[in-house]
Amino acid sequence: MYRKRILCISLILIIILGMCACTNPFKPQTKPTEEPAPAYSMDYLVLVNRDNPLPEDWEEHLECEYFVNAVGDTVAVEKTAYAEYLRMKETLEKENIFVDLDSAYRSVKVQQETWDEFMVKYGEEYTKAYVAVPGYSEHHTGLALDLFLIVDGKIIYENEDLVTYPEIWARIHELAPEYGFILRYLEGKEDITGYNYEPWHLRYVGPGIAREITDDGLTLEEYLEQHK
Ligand SMILES: [Zn+2]
Repeated sequence: MYRKRILCISLILIIILGMCACTNPFKPQTKPTEEPAPAYSMDYLVLVNRDNPLPEDWEEHLECEYFVNAVGDTVAVEKTAYAEYLRMKETLEKENIFVDLDSAYRSVKVQQETWDEFMVKYGEEYTKAYVAVPGYSEHHTGLALDLFLIVDGKIIYENEDLVTYPEIWARIHELAPEYGFILRYLEGKEDITGYNYEPWHLRYVGPGIAREITDDGLTLEEYLEQHK
């Protein structure tokens, strides 16, 4: 009986020691490595229009490049869009087409200033047709580019003058998708985009998708509706 109890206690001790070996308190514990925060990737298909405001966290992740244009204004453009714009500009120059950027990224504050300026210059009807309500401008994304032209060394800057060069715009629009840009406000699709035709307003979406959207004659709204 006594021997049996000893045996039983020994067995329990062996089990306990075995368990201790598994959870050795002196064994250095490997600390779980902290997961690195996932890199923020720009949504180049972000939709900002009269019905869709800029996503709230957009501007905190936006990385822009800055440069001074031919009329002395500082222009900010989202990094990738700017690199692609420069490549497109270079190609155009080989064909004697000279472009520059009037504006790209605009903060809500600057958009308000533009709105006020247009109200004075062109009146309410024109302003509502051409200028976005602050917070609802695609220019807040940094991916929308307004081009102006330099023709025979002369700066063509005003909207009413820019529209008098349809053949130059046609070539720009033809080339744009190769560099990831689409013509954003198409003629005849004003009811979908909410804007009149603007030959100068390009939007970066990325090369493959820009080609698809352009070849299918779609607006960004229509493309996103089809690819929900
Ligand atoms: Zn624009």
